[in-house]
Amino acid sequence: MTAVNLGVPVVRSAPDVSARPESPHLVDRFGRVATDLRVSLTDRCNLRCTYCMPAEGLDWLPKPELLSDDELARLVSIAVTRLGVTDVRFTGGEPLLRPGIEKVIAATTALSPRPNTSMTTNGITLAKRAAGLAEAGLDRVNVSLDTLDPARFHEMTRRDRISDVFAGMAAARDAGLTPVKVNSVLLRGVNDDEAVPLLRFALENGYQLRFIEQMPLDPQHGWDRSSMVTAEEILDALGREFTLAPESTDRGGAPAERWLVDGGPAVVGVIASVTRPFCAACDRTRLTADGQLRNCLFSTSETDLRAPLRAGATDEEIADLWRGTMWAKAAGHGINRAGFDQPDRPMSAIGG
Ligand code: SAM
Ligand code: SF4
Repeated sequence: MTAVNLGVPVVRSAPDVSARPESPHLVDRFGRVATDLRVSLTDRCNLRCTYCMPAEGLDWLPKPELLSDDELARLVSIAVTRLGVTDVRFTGGEPLLRPGIEKVIAATTALSPRPNTSMTTNGITLAKRAAGLAEAGLDRVNVSLDTLDPARFHEMTRRDRISDVFAGMAAARDAGLTPVKVNSVLLRGVNDDEAVPLLRFALENGYQLRFIEQMPLDPQHGWDRSSMVTAEEILDALGREFTLAPESTDRGGAPAERWLVDGGPAVVGVIASVTRPFCAACDRTRLTADGQLRNCLFSTSETDLRAPLRAGATDEEIADLWRGTMWAKAAGHGINRAGFDQPDRPMSAIGG
C-alpha cells in the first residue's frame, strides 16, 4: 500500500487477516458484522462550527486525491454487492458542497439489493437540492442544528445562515426525505439550555430529534470530558418537561437510544458515544473522501483503497482489503481508557 500525503498525518498499518473466517461479509474478531457504510464526500464545509473546525478552515484535501464520482460509485457498489452493506449514508464535511452527488446517489440506489440511502448535511443548500436528491433516490436526511436562536447560530457556526437551515429542513420534508432527523450537539455554557426548545421545535415540525454527545474529534483538541454535556443531563432536562419512556430495550446496532415522548409516537434519541458507548453493537464501516477505509471513527490507522483502485485492482481484491480492515477493528473506541489517543483526522475529514 502506498502512503501518500493527505494533508493530515495518518498512521497506516496492515490489518491482521490471519484468523479471518471465509465469509464474504465484513465480520470482525468480536462477532460484529458491518452493514452500515458512511461515505464522506468532501472534507470542506460552508460552516465553521466551533467544535468542529477553526474559523480559517482546515488544510483541505487536494482535489486529485479525492475520489471521483465514478470511483466513489464503484466502491459503494463493491460494498453493497460483495460485502453485504445494506445502508449507505453520505456525509462530510458538507456533502452538498460536492457537485454531482445526485449521480452517485442514483448509482447507489440502482444497486441490487438496493441499500437504504441517506445523508447527513448542515442543510445550508438543502432547500435548492432536496427535490433532486429525492428524485435520485435518496431516502432521507439528517440535518444538523444546534440552536434555534439566529444570533447563537451565527456564533456557533460563524455564519449567519439559520434561515437557510430551516428552509432546507422544510424542503426535505416536502420532498419526502423523511423522517427528517435533526442532529444537535449541546455545549456547556453555549446552548445547553436548548434541549427542551429543540425538542419542541422538532415535535411541532414533524422532525425526529437526536442529541449527540460531543466527542474528542475536533482538530483543535479542545474536547474536555469535564465540560461535555452528558446524555444523562440532557435526559434530565427533557424529563422535567416531557414524559420519556424507552422505546425498546434492544437498540441493535443503532447508536441512538430512543425514548417515546409523552407516550409517543414521537421519539427523541440520544447518541451517548462517550458515556454509554455502543461499540459492542457497532455495524459501521467508513470511507473517507480520499479513499481511505476506516473501521472506526476513532481508528488511528486506515487502509488506502484509492491507490489499488487507481492501479487497476479488481473488485474482489478491493473487497478483500475491505474485509481485512474490518477484521482488524478494535473492540471499542477507548475514549474512556487512560492513554486514549485522539485520531489525527478530525470529524469533518472522516465523515460524521
Ligand atoms: N456537515 C454535515 C453536518 O454538519 O451535518 C455533515 C458532517 S458533520 C461532521 C456530522 C455531524 O457530526 C453533525 O451533526 C455535527 O454536529 C457532528 N459533530 C461534529 N463534530 C462533532 C464532535 N466533536 N462530537 C460530536 N458530534 C460532532
Ligand atoms: Fe461543517 Fe458539519 Fe463540521 Fe459544522 S459540523 S463545521 S456543518 S462539517
